Amino acid sequence: MTEEPRCPICTMPDPLIGPDGYECDTCGHAWAAAPEDGIGEVHDVNGKLLAEGDDVLVIKDLKLNGKAGGIKVGTKVKSIRLVPGDHPIQGKVNGRTVLITADKVKKA
Ligand SMILES: [Zn+2]
Repeated sequence: MTEEPRCPICTMPDPLIGPDGYECDTCGHAWAAAPEDGIGEVHDVNGKLLAEGDDVLVIKDLKLNGKAGGIKVGTKVKSIRLVPGDHPIQGKVNGRTVLITADKVKKA
């Protein structure tokens, strides 16, 4: 039994299924299909395969929630987790859980 996919934005069930994932009929949000145990491969900016528990270095200043004062270039994010979505790298910076796109990091 697979769990019913729901829109991550408006949480409506029964999204439209497209070639690359799902599209919400209610709010128009589109996202990639993400089976529970199939995130897919995540590569850093140099094309190196990242794995859960890896340490990565941030290679660009990052804003958090669109605000300044986010993550500085050179910040090390230890023991990352990989999560579904377009920001597949989850880690902790200064005690805060952050999500980062794979092209903003390199393996430490
Ligand atoms: Zn929606």
